[in-house]
Amino acid sequence: MAAITNTKAPKPTLFIDGQWTHSSSGQSRPTINPFDASIITHVDEANAQDAERAIQSARKFQDTSDWSSRTFASRAPLLKKIAELLQKNKAELAKIETIDTGKTIGESEIDIDDVTAVFEFYAEEGIKYDKPKVITGKGIPDTVTSQVTKEAVGVCVLISPWNYPLLQICWKLAPALVAGNSCIVKPSEVTPLSTIYLHKLMLEAGVPPQAIQILTAGGQSVGPTLTTHPSVDLVSFTGGLATGRSIIRSCAETVKRCCVELGGKNPNVIFSDVPLDIAIDMALTAVFVHSGQVCSSGARLIIEDKGSFANDVVAGVVERAQQIVLGNGLEQGTECGPLVSAAHLEKAKGFIEVGKSEGAKLLCGGKQAEDPKLSKGYFFLPTVFDQCDRSMKIVQEETFAPILTVERFKAGDEERAIFLANDTNYGLAAGIQTADKDRSLRIAKRLRHGTVWQNTFGAYTPRAEWGGFGWSGNGRELGSHGLDEYVESKHIYAEK
Ligand code: NAD
Repeated sequence: MAAITNTKAPKPTLFIDGQWTHSSSGQSRPTINPFDASIITHVDEANAQDAERAIQSARKFQDTSDWSSRTFASRAPLLKKIAELLQKNKAELAKIETIDTGKTIGESEIDIDDVTAVFEFYAEEGIKYDKPKVITGKGIPDTVTSQVTKEAVGVCVLISPWNYPLLQICWKLAPALVAGNSCIVKPSEVTPLSTIYLHKLMLEAGVPPQAIQILTAGGQSVGPTLTTHPSVDLVSFTGGLATGRSIIRSCAETVKRCCVELGGKNPNVIFSDVPLDIAIDMALTAVFVHSGQVCSSGARLIIEDKGSFANDVVAGVVERAQQIVLGNGLEQGTECGPLVSAAHLEKAKGFIEVGKSEGAKLLCGGKQAEDPKLSKGYFFLPTVFDQCDRSMKIVQEETFAPILTVERFKAGDEERAIFLANDTNYGLAAGIQTADKDRSLRIAKRLRHGTVWQNTFGAYTPRAEWGGFGWSGNGRELGSHGLDEYVESKHIYAEK
């Protein structure tokens, strides 16, 4: 992680009580371009005092303004305006995201299109929440009116990870804002730049300045204040398992609503009735997109061992993995960027040693890229481990890197395929690739994963819920459930 320095950022990057401001500590932290390890800029490192000010401002605004008591419909146009501004500023924003994360410009542009759709979706969805649910029927006397209304939860702390900085924060902000909450946004210290840019767009769109505060900082600098403070009503967190657990514990004392979206170790089950070229493509793209730094990455290939099928697929994946063009995400032709940081590169290398020591067979990759053009950055070669089994750490732990493990099941042994696919503490996403539609449905019903892709991998829509079973989290984002996370229900029971 980049070191904190005792100098101010060139421009203030905290937004507290309606103003851009420097941290009261006077400290900042560099944000690094993972392509060449150069410093892009410095951002303010907020501290507990800054977090306290942001919470006080958000609380006051929530309790004294009409922001939360207005209709959902009155706030919906703000979301539409944000969507418009995202598109208008797409080129610049995509460049910022690519420089900060290392992902390709094409991937950054897709993220911007996706979040535009998220703001548009919640602008529509929010309006439905103005209509109270009228309760009638058994147990409700004629003398009574009973209705359930929806309102904001209050002050919400939104904490995002580094892999999809813009996307993940928008999944939280769009529903939180349409519901009339006040938001304190804490982007990852590793990739804060697109969130700062987004903040400016939201202000331009007309979101009341006190409805959104931004604290750029490491988790330890502001996390304890944000997640234990009695004036915070909700914490929505996306990130790693260990941090998620500690946030759940922090929220417990003041019984905050706490939604955590965590990691995954996602199986991609392929049967031998899938044409070879499609099977290779499906296995490859599921895991190597964004250099494997995707929570729903298909990092576990579970393949039917029938004839030469499994060997042929694995050989095809290895061949194609070695042809993936690594490079500067800003350049046309680059297929994969670097890992996000030096620390993450070291973590990936560590997993290779673990895999080898566990007896997995390394077929390709397994090290930092040696191409001199990439030597300054944090590039890691696409890696395939064969002969893996369920007892291995490399199979069970999230590597968050371009590392594919291969497990095989006996021809026709559907039960074993299901068992292996569910053999994880996580449960975020799974793929099932087969030409047999009945089998696909049968298996999909039994998979303990929040998303199941049949004959595809990785697609999502803002209209459907996203989240995980088990250790992948305790809530849902997107869809109507994603809005319910930011809404309180109130039952009004009245004698006529
Ligand atoms: P992380 O847990 O290290 O950090 C996530 C965020 O939490 C950062 O903003 C960090 O500063 C903050 N944080 C750290 N300690 C904190 C504390 N004590 N209190 C409050 N905030 C604190 O995760 P990461 O490395 O940034 O992200 C990678 C992880 O995110 C992976 O495990 C990935 O699977 C997961 N992820 C999940 C989803 C999903 O939809 N389920 C999506 C994207 C990423």
